[in-house]
Parts: sequence; structure tokens; C-alpha cells
Amino acid sequence: MKCPGTDPRFLKVEVKKCSKCGYEVEIFTDEIRVKCPRCKSYVYREIPSCIDWCRYAKECIGEKKWKELKEK
Ligand SMILES: [Zn+2]
Repeated sequence: MKCPGTDPRFLKVEVKKCSKCGYEVEIFTDEIRVKCPRCKSYVYREIPSCIDWCRYAKECIGEKKWKELKEK
């Protein structure tokens, strides 16, 4: 079970600004966080909204990642 939010075929790169130094960091849509290459702090991506409500989210993204997201 895959939904468009997490299907690798729809994988995209987003650009997020580091909250500490303003550096523009590239982050893939299946990643939760990336390390800023400039200041080494973590840049977080918003959780895809379907993970919050989709009852297949756990199977869809895998239990490990699902737990990571829920623990945030
Ligand atoms: Zn930074």
C-alpha cells in the first residue's frame, strides 16, 4: 500500500532554509531531517499530512520510520 505522499515515484527534492544559518538545504520528501552542511544543525521537514491520518501509513512508510515520525 503506497500513497502519493510517500511513493518513490513521486519522490521530490524540497529546499528548506536552515533555521540557524539560513543555508538552503535540499531534503528528499522521504527524509525526515537532514544535517545542514554549513552549521551542522538539523533541518526538519514537515511530516507529510497523510501520515497523520492515513490508516495505512504504518505499512506505507514502514514501522521504523512511522515510529520516528510519531515520536517527534
Ligand atoms: Zn545551518
